[in-house]
Amino acid sequence: MTSKSSGLSGTHTLFQVSTSGALVAGLFSGVVSCRALLQHGDFGLGTFANLDGELVVVDDHVYQVRGDGTVSEAPADAEAPFAVVTRFDPDVDSHVTDLESFAILEEYCDKARLSSNIFYAFRLDGIFETVRTRAVSPSLNHGRLIDAAKAQVEFSFNNIAGSLIGFWSPGFSSAFSIPGYHFHFISNDRRHGGHLLACSAKALRLRSEPLTDFHLALPENEAFLKADLSKNSADELAYAEKAH
Ligand SMILES: [Zn+2]
Repeated sequence: MTSKSSGLSGTHTLFQVSTSGALVAGLFSGVVSCRALLQHGDFGLGTFANLDGELVVVDDHVYQVRGDGTVSEAPADAEAPFAVVTRFDPDVDSHVTDLESFAILEEYCDKARLSSNIFYAFRLDGIFETVRTRAVSPSLNHGRLIDAAKAQVEFSFNNIAGSLIGFWSPGFSSAFSIPGYHFHFISNDRRHGGHLLACSAKALRLRSEPLTDFHLALPENEAFLKADLSKNSADELAYAEKAH
């Protein structure tokens, strides 16, 4: 750890609330407010209490992309059951071209990473030729995350200016995090967004930041304290993240 990455200064720290396994197990109650999230970062993603949409933190604002596709700035007291934020301070700032698919975008991000054993924040900005997203909706029928994934609504956008806000997490973090890439999209006009499923672009600005401090805040509510989280949730999580 270099002096620059000291967690004491709050830089290069990934702040995560709850675990991916808790989300998979259906613990959808809010455990952190948007106001509190912004105290730990200006950049990030997550979901809202009762799965009322996808959460995107960009430039110190929290946006809520609901299941009906509408986007609004989340109230400061709106709560999230799961979120990951950081203070975005990139050390790579480059341009990438001919991103014909999400897979190619991931290859560019791979090249920007020096290691597979630390976390990274990634931000890509520009005009996207195509973007496909989804957003979860609240439902009384949600048992586990996989049930919500089956009911999610998808959106397609063409020639849209926007940003991808995301993280790369190492494989060993799958016990509590979402391994690999995880992006949320938000349009420049803040009217469209969601959890990214696919995209393409001619050229984008790519910025990334290595994150070597990890702060995990665990819920103290009864549902979390009493839940059985001993089961490996990786397969269910992978399905819920990629289902469409
Ligand atoms: Zn997501």
